[in-house]
Amino acid sequence: MFSFFFGQEEINDKLSVKKCEEQVEKCVIHNKWIQKAIQFLTECSNKIEDISSESKKIINCKFCEPSLFPHSRAYYRIDEKKIYLCANRLSINDVFVVLKHELTHFIDDKLGFDFLVPEIVACSEIRAAKNAECEHAIFKKKCTKKFAYDSIKFKYPNQSHEIIERIFDKCYNSKIFLKDNISFLSSFGFNNFK
Ligand SMILES: [Zn+2]
Repeated sequence: MFSFFFGQEEINDKLSVKKCEEQVEKCVIHNKWIQKAIQFLTECSNKIEDISSESKKIINCKFCEPSLFPHSRAYYRIDEKKIYLCANRLSINDVFVVLKHELTHFIDDKLGFDFLVPEIVACSEIRAAKNAECEHAIFKKKCTKKFAYDSIKFKYPNQSHEIIERIFDKCYNSKIFLKDNISFLSSFGFNNFK
């Protein structure tokens, strides 16, 4: 279902599914943020063996046919609660970035973001870009705004700029693990969040 999909723009060098899986495993074993995210999402213990085995249930590498989300390197499926990485569209160095990006969407879903609301979709894209593609950018705000815009421009062709400008500061400054997500979402003035 397309409206339950998040992706990114660039298509890079190719990995095999096996290489992609190996790289995901490395990211899980070596990165604290990814471990914390998986723990939060699966509610597993903080033992690395548990985190690693849970990660395999929610993160999948696959071969993506050209017709499948042609602009995307990875996507999160709300209906399945799973992340898919298109191995054949990723280089080895992309894996960490797309994983952080999609994990951010997954976290936002678990926090109760209603992805049927364009502002909420844009907000999650801002948070994902800040956290992933733009994490080490010199002009971080500018980078984040550009990536977020690129992520929603196909979905909301006439509104993307206006939406991003309106909510940017609030979402950019939000914490990744929100303690009080309900009041955060209420601050948008929506009542239809989960
Ligand atoms: Zn995204």
